[in-house]
Amino acid sequence: MKAFVVEKFGDRLELKDLPLPTLGNGEALVKVKACGIGLTLSWIRLGRMGGSTPRVIGHEIAGVVEKVGDGVTDISPGDSVAVYFYLTCGKCEYCLTDRETLCVNFKGNVGTRTDGGLAEYLKLPSENLFKFHKDKIPYSSASIISDAIATPLHIARRRAMIHPLERVMIIGAGGGVGIHMVQMAKMFGAEVFAVDVSNEKLELAKKYGASHLIDAKKGKVSETIKELTQNKGVNTVIDFVSSPDSISSGFSSLAPQGKLVLLGHFHPEDPLHISDPQDVIRKEISILGSRYATKQEFRDAIEMVERGMIKPVVSTIYKFEDSDKALKDVEEGKVSGRAVVEIP
Ligand SMILES: [Zn+2]
Repeated sequence: MKAFVVEKFGDRLELKDLPLPTLGNGEALVKVKACGIGLTLSWIRLGRMGGSTPRVIGHEIAGVVEKVGDGVTDISPGDSVAVYFYLTCGKCEYCLTDRETLCVNFKGNVGTRTDGGLAEYLKLPSENLFKFHKDKIPYSSASIISDAIATPLHIARRRAMIHPLERVMIIGAGGGVGIHMVQMAKMFGAEVFAVDVSNEKLELAKKYGASHLIDAKKGKVSETIKELTQNKGVNTVIDFVSSPDSISSGFSSLAPQGKLVLLGHFHPEDPLHISDPQDVIRKEISILGSRYATKQEFRDAIEMVERGMIKPVVSTIYKFEDSDKALKDVEEGKVSGRAVVEIP
């Protein structure tokens, strides 16, 4: 089968011929139809997410079950499935209580510790495959539910616990996960303040429900927030950038009892820096981490898309052979919303 491989960390993606995976107990072979391309793949390519090489990367995957191994009863060949990309044990106290992202026997991510979706086929434990109705969701849209839509649901419902009328600021609102966070926050009843660095990304955020657009390159974000909220600040900041600058401007934009939700902090060289830690106490600020989504949240995210409650924003579809170009375009910030590679 053809697959895009990172031969060693730091290399570009290279098209190779690999043997078809053989199935073990409880595993299924999936014919990949679509794979989402986000900035996370760049961190994986550079080795910042752990794992090992050579590796087929790609974790936002939708496809058709080709064949199943012994002991698989929940899915059958021909089923359309989307991939839950955490490899969890299913047995620990966190897995058993709808908190799989904290699994104590965590085995890593699909596309980091095991081969991922930028290939014609991949094999996975059947418990990582979730059915969807292909007459309701095209494969390109289904692929991005995995991360770009399930992650915002976890943030909105479980971490930020967004309530109606809350003022929610989203940093990186025009990116692949951000644009679905805008929709999710809006659906939970929030007034959305979108922060990004290009007109195109901000306009996209507006199209999907943001009430206020803030260009982080023009002026100080926290000052703009003060003006827009009559000095009240926002109740929640969801920071998909999590750089020292974005964390500090998010923190200064919070109202009393505000929540700062951090994701995507892949800069070990930049420690978390709060300019005035006393404010955490004075203003009763909560600093929250958020990590992917649980399997039940993934199921719910699929249902939300099937019901039309959340619209997958696939902005650019690339051909399989252009997978490396797709990743390059994402790395260069050229893609608003999510890029997807389709595999014939
Ligand atoms: Zn577990």
